[in-house]
Amino acid sequence: MANFGSIVERLNGNIYHLDEEESHIEVNQEIAKKMGVGKLFVRICPAHVYSEETDGSIGVSYAACLECGTCLAVATPGSLKWHYPKGGCGIAFREG
Ligand code: SF4
Repeated sequence: MANFGSIVERLNGNIYHLDEEESHIEVNQEIAKKMGVGKLFVRICPAHVYSEETDGSIGVSYAACLECGTCLAVATPGSLKWHYPKGGCGIAFREG
């Protein structure tokens, strides 16, 4: 049986070009908290981009984003601003 490696090993094969000037993800903290969707972002993001801070706000480590769109699919109106990173930035997949 072929060994394709673990998910972590395979993700580590990708290349990330970080936009150090601008995050492509912005959580509206007020709406996210009011609608309870911030905790959902934390649970569903496969790259652990989102985290719940001690004050209840949602932290965003946008550099790890896989650009899968899952958070957009569950976001309530106004809770999330998300766009692809500007040209040349973001993830460059090396494995499918
Ligand atoms: S697009 Fe995917 S990887 Fe990026 S923050 Fe949203 S859920 Fe996480």
